[in-house]
Amino acid sequence: MAETRFKPPGPIDAVIIGGGPAGASAAAVLAEHGHSVVVLERERFPRYHVGESLLPFTFEPLRRLGLIERMRASAFVKKYSVQFVSPSGKASQPFYFFDRYDRDTVAQTWQVLRSEFDQMLLDHARSRGATVHEGLKVTGLLKEEGRVIGVRAVDDAAQAHEFRARMTLDCTGKEAFAAVRENWRIKDPRLNKVAVWTYYEGAQRDEGIDAGATTVAMIPDKGWFWYIPLHEDRVSVGVVAEGRYLARAGVKEPRQIFEREIQQNPWIAGHLASGRQTGPHYLTSEYSFHSRYCASEGLLLVGDAFAFLDPVFSSGLMLALKSGVMAGDAVHEGLLAGDCSPSRFAEYARVLREGLENMRKLVYAFYNENFSFRRVIEKYPDLAGDITDCLSGDVNKDFSRLWAATREFADLPESLPVGGPLAPNGECRMANAEAEEHAQLG
Ligand SMILES: Cc1cc2nc3c(=O)[nH]c(=O)nc-3n(C[C@H](O)[C@H](O)[C@H](O)COP(=O)(O)OP(=O)(O)OC[C@H]3O[C@@H](n4cnc5c(N)ncnc54)[C@H](O)[C@@H]3O)c2cc1C
Repeated sequence: MAETRFKPPGPIDAVIIGGGPAGASAAAVLAEHGHSVVVLERERFPRYHVGESLLPFTFEPLRRLGLIERMRASAFVKKYSVQFVSPSGKASQPFYFFDRYDRDTVAQTWQVLRSEFDQMLLDHARSRGATVHEGLKVTGLLKEEGRVIGVRAVDDAAQAHEFRARMTLDCTGKEAFAAVRENWRIKDPRLNKVAVWTYYEGAQRDEGIDAGATTVAMIPDKGWFWYIPLHEDRVSVGVVAEGRYLARAGVKEPRQIFEREIQQNPWIAGHLASGRQTGPHYLTSEYSFHSRYCASEGLLLVGDAFAFLDPVFSSGLMLALKSGVMAGDAVHEGLLAGDCSPSRFAEYARVLREGLENMRKLVYAFYNENFSFRRVIEKYPDLAGDITDCLSGDVNKDFSRLWAATREFADLPESLPVGGPLAPNGECRMANAEAEEHAQLG
């Protein structure tokens, strides 16, 4: 393979690996600030991606990016609520986001087809001045005396390229390019599920404002279905559970697993009955993980590449967009100050980890057999609002009362002492006192 050096028109301030929502939003913000930004995306857009349901708290990053009007003018289905369905098929009262937030802004969000949504975000980054190369796969980090100084990449024609930059942002999604290579990836101790999913056309939708609701439908053994209505009469539907449960009786083929599980919940079976399955059945077994660090010299981790949380409450895109915007601003300030040392990203890490840990507690509670939202709300009616807030993605607030009440029904995890910037002595430097109390992870 011939080694060539790609020569951008001038020095690059930031090279971004991955043009998904995290990479595209970081690129747009940095380019808006006037920096030279290059995005390297191995696929050619539009490309398929799972993860279609937005949370209300994507509103702020989308507003910051200037995309609210584009979203409003799009064909994406409007989402006002999330509802839960018991294994017997009984639907809960929906959690309407407008019970807590402004109906005309935050409280209405969207169900998106990712090929279109991600294309819009990447085109937006281009329109702000970022250079985007599609069909270019990053194969290695370039380092000088331990500092990341850019990346090595290869194009569709097997031609090698190097991109040197003052900062490298890893936005590669849950493949977590840098965390895997630096050996920073830590599996979540308990959240290790398998997902199987596919698409239907013509499946049933609920009436009125419930037509765009996300439904989480339980199956026995704390597995669940997602049911996400998309535009063009499509529905995204998937089942998530322990691998050994889904593969019971030796069934391993995704289609067979999926078709068997449909029968485990009458609401799902009923809603799919009028529909026609379309396209492949997908399977993923790579689940929740956290990166030990968010940053080292010259490198910052963003979106799923920083942490990937079980998708039961659809938090991924909210965290990807929020971290992308925050990363763009934090790197801009570092570049301006001539100091992008890892410690500058301590606050970035603190905010993201706080949000992740709140969402993670709710996810742990969800998988506990003694927990149900109904039981908590029956005993503590005033906490219903806190639950809606967390389900809306309003995750950077004090939920201590909610967690104290939830602990009466379910074990909740302590915050993991991970995710801060890498300090020169190898410690994980968190900006919050709680994490500082923990020693370094063994
Ligand atoms: C089964 C499942 C269901 C989900 N459901 C939801 C949901 O309903 N709602 C929600 O909000 N989230 C959901 N998620 C999570 C959501 O998909 C992610 O959180 C979101 O896509 C993260 O965005 P990102 O930009 O960090 O990564 P990605 O969207 O994965 O983008 C990463 C990009 O990097 C590119 N890339 C990777 N490696 C390289 C490389 N070496 N060189 C160049 N480019 C590279 C990829 O091609 C990709 O385009 C779900 C996830 C799963 C697995």
